[in-house]
Amino acid sequence: MTKPRTVRCPQCGKEALWAPENRWRPFCSERCKQIDLGAWAAGSYTIAGQPSDEETAADGVDFREHNR
Ligand SMILES: [Zn+2]
Repeated sequence: MTKPRTVRCPQCGKEALWAPENRWRPFCSERCKQIDLGAWAAGSYTIAGQPSDEETAADGVDFREHNR
């Protein structure tokens, strides 16, 4: 039997399965992948899967600063 290959999730540090069935590798989950993308893209991940809208909206900037 072969041991399942795992990597450490760059986001949360938990072990993530490194296999075709893990679509989010090297992350452990979709959530971690979204968080990581959002961290450098906008500093916000409130709407998972729709990351870019508030980047162009002035209201979005205000909200983000208020939220910190
Ligand atoms: Zn993770």
